[in-house]
Amino acid sequence: MTHEIYLKDIDLAGFEEKVYVIAAEVLDILKELSRENQKQINSKTIAEKMFHKESVKNALVNKNNGETNKEDEIKFLKELANTVLDKFSELVPSHMVENLCSLKEIFKDHTIFNSSADWLDSPISTVKKYIESVSTRNNELEAFLKQTMQYLAAIEAPLTNELSFQQKKFSEDREFEDSIYKYMDMMREECNVTDDIESLKMAFINKIENINKGIEKKRERDIVRLKETEKTIEEMKKRMNEVKREADEIRKRSQEMEVETYRDALTGLHNRKAYDEKMEETLAHIRRYNVTASLMICDIDFFKKINDNFGHKVGDLALKKLAELLKERLRINDFISRYGGEEFAIVLPHTDMKGAMIAGESIRSYIDMSVFSYKNQKIPLTISVGISSFKKGDDVNTVFERSDKALYLAKKSGRNKVKTEDDITAEGTR
Ligand code: GH3
Ligand code: MG
Ligand code: MG
Repeated sequence: MTHEIYLKDIDLAGFEEKVYVIAAEVLDILKELSRENQKQINSKTIAEKMFHKESVKNALVNKNNGETNKEDEIKFLKELANTVLDKFSELVPSHMVENLCSLKEIFKDHTIFNSSADWLDSPISTVKKYIESVSTRNNELEAFLKQTMQYLAAIEAPLTNELSFQQKKFSEDREFEDSIYKYMDMMREECNVTDDIESLKMAFINKIENINKGIEKKRERDIVRLKETEKTIEEMKKRMNEVKREADEIRKRSQEMEVETYRDALTGLHNRKAYDEKMEETLAHIRRYNVTASLMICDIDFFKKINDNFGHKVGDLALKKLAELLKERLRINDFISRYGGEEFAIVLPHTDMKGAMIAGESIRSYIDMSVFSYKNQKIPLTISVGISSFKKGDDVNTVFERSDKALYLAKKSGRNKVKTEDDITAEGTR
């Protein structure tokens, strides 16, 4: 026997009480089924269990008195619909339960069952909303996946698979939606063509149950899909981290290589190659922006003596010491390079001859005043400085030559001195 029979055999007298009895039993059965962890909770399983309940039998199997009160019957149908809606509440996400509650309010109105199929629009829109909410989440997921894919063009394969999987899921979702709409249309159709309340309620229960099954099946499938997607995303994250790690590694290595290419190994200053590039860059800058810059060449005085008297190793220490002193004294923007041997070329951006002379004198005296010693023995460490300023028509060699000549003059003038290109001209005219 099924629920069809007890619906037919209903005793309509004292109906409300019976509805409460049935509702209480339905709740108990639902609790029981969920405790048993039953996956297939549908109106059929509920009805089967219901039939075994004595209280339900008593409430429903009483023969009616022959007078069918349509009002009461409709009332019963409403209560039944509410029970089905309760079932829906379990299936839809929590934020949609509210919609179903308001739907129940609608069922309180007796007139809704009497004529048109308007009352069906509410469950239809509820199911529609549910479908839309599922689709929105899918859109977000798809957008995220696409973004991730762009990021990971290098490891295309797993992502391509994921995309086709999502597309398949999408088309299956569409199919599911279509089938829901089909059932809804059928229900609406049925309501329009059927006047007989008995067959209408049977059709209603039947269709609702089918929709129910469809939603349950889809939910199960979605859970499996979600898990698979989560797994794929997890894998992609892992790969993304690997790519990031590799990129960091490459970046680090290229930085190291750059350091090797442009740094002097002994002093840590810029090397000759870096100096060449800086000079070209400075010249281009001057031509374009009409700014000033100066070049300063520093050469250690009698460096050969340090090597000869204390050894090559101490000579190296002197070079390191000098590099430190230069860095300490000069500005952060000044480009200090080891041009070669014990010669240092310093590019002073945005510095005219006047400024360069101040800088030259400052660094010369700073080194002169500092103490360089080895094994408690003080070793004299001084430099001679030659300065030139960049001019419009200069190339790398011309500006360097003028500085070099100034340096030569500083050496000739007794060392530990600063001389400029202007001093050469003055010397020449003397
Ligand atoms: P001046 O005052 O005229 O510049 O005399 P100087 O002895 O400093 O100049 P000179 O050009 O006669 O000698 C430079 C010396 O610098 C010769 C070379 O052995 C030494 N030298 C060049 N590069 C290095 C280096 O990397 N380490 C050491 N320890 N010595 C170097
Ligand atoms: Mg020297
Ligand atoms: Mg030299």
